[in-house]
Amino acid sequence: MRNQNYIGGAWVDAAGGATDEVLNPATGEVITSVPASDAVDVDAAVAAAKEAYAGWRTLTPRARSEALYAVADAIEADLDTIKRLEMENCGKPAGMIEFEMDLTLDNWRFFAGGARFLEGRAAGEYIEEHTSYLRRDPLGVIGSIAPWNYPINMATWKLGPALAAGNTVVLKPSELTPMTALRLAEITADILPKGVLNVVTGDGKSAGDALVRHPDVAMVSLTGSVETGKVIARTAAETLKRVHLELGGKAPVIIFDDADIDAAVECLTDMAYYNSGQDCTAPCRLMAGPKVFDALVSGLTESVGNIVTGDPFAADTAMGPVISARQLEKVSGMVSRAGEAGAEITVGGSALDRPGYFYAPSVVVNPAQDSEIVQREVFGPVVTVQRFSDDEQALAWANDVDYGLSASVWTSDVGRAMRMTAALDFGCVWVNDHIPITSEMPHGGYKQSGYGKDMSIYAIEHYTELKHIMIKH
Ligand code: NAD
Repeated sequence: MRNQNYIGGAWVDAAGGATDEVLNPATGEVITSVPASDAVDVDAAVAAAKEAYAGWRTLTPRARSEALYAVADAIEADLDTIKRLEMENCGKPAGMIEFEMDLTLDNWRFFAGGARFLEGRAAGEYIEEHTSYLRRDPLGVIGSIAPWNYPINMATWKLGPALAAGNTVVLKPSELTPMTALRLAEITADILPKGVLNVVTGDGKSAGDALVRHPDVAMVSLTGSVETGKVIARTAAETLKRVHLELGGKAPVIIFDDADIDAAVECLTDMAYYNSGQDCTAPCRLMAGPKVFDALVSGLTESVGNIVTGDPFAADTAMGPVISARQLEKVSGMVSRAGEAGAEITVGGSALDRPGYFYAPSVVVNPAQDSEIVQREVFGPVVTVQRFSDDEQALAWANDVDYGLSASVWTSDVGRAMRMTAALDFGCVWVNDHIPITSEMPHGGYKQSGYGKDMSIYAIEHYTELKHIMIKH
């Protein structure tokens, strides 16, 4: 297993020789160490990507498509290793990793197909004796910066559309979870030409910042927190590079009195605690109508209390640790402050007394709308439940956050579902479900959840520039 930077087809240490330890969050033990890269390493990777660009962009769409299908096949052939690395590095239980790998493979194959579908819509004589047409050109070198919650899947959302469109990439995985990005480079070394994919490990302030500042990087694509998104947007302004931001979320779940409460409890027990709640679309901000509030709280409290939490490699484990000691401290602090402010914690509410970074799945009832736990992303196994009085208040509370990534509405009234879905300021709204995603549909935010879309043909388009060509005749 490689633990160096992958630059221009070669495996190299950081020029300065520094390294970062990589931990297993289920035990707190060190797995390995990887380069703590800085601007010198980023510079080398950008140079390699720039050199590879001319060759990659001029390949036919079919040739690029075939390469991306081959990447998917290589991942599929290496599934056992990739799953193990992701489980060790993120503490993901076995059941979860199956779904993530299935989505990852489908994403690669979708983008492979999408490479052949880029088009400009116009072709015609809009001025006499002149023919206009449009083409979509790649942008050049893309700096892709990924988070730690779904390392290989988020890397896929960045690499797939960028490469499909004809760009070359320098990928910086999260300093906490670099393992599968390095493995991806290793297993695709014979498929992608040298320099088309480069992986540089290191933290945000050093390696990430250097990528954002680099004048030869045409676009930076980040999946990460709102705070990091703001820093990157400000830094990128210096070179006016394009920025693609998939940021945090605080998804409202509006459960009306006419909803199927058993279905809601079942879905929320699975999805709110999936990946230990470290999901930007996690259904974390529940609001229930006056007639179903008590049933929801008692049903959820009971089923959340039964979530089996522990060793990701044990067969019956449904939930693993959070990613780090820092994240555990953040989750603990937010739940404690919610309790001190008057909310009731009906289940969970504390870290687990065992090695690693485990927090008990928790339900926090009746926090105030303006409280920290309702307004800010927890990114842990915690939901809040509020009681609303009518549709108007539910909608106002749902929209009353800085975030705008996803939401869900639970009702048996089609008209109410139509009204609510139209009025919610979120990039994805589910009705009577929460979280399913598919390669064909765009994923991205409104408001401070960022801009630009992942997945779908819209993601590929985002990694291109429209060019108008006009011919006089
Ligand atoms: P983070 O913002 O701390 O880090 C994300 C990445 O940005 C890391 O690779 C980090 O090294 C890098 N980074 C940090 N500071 C930087 C800087 N100044 N310049 C350049 N790069 C920098 O986020 P995280 O804690 O890794 O991930 C969790 C966050 O990601 C949550 O807020 C979550 O909601 C969000 N997220 C969003 C989506 C989405 O699709 N919208 C998906 C997954 C996660």
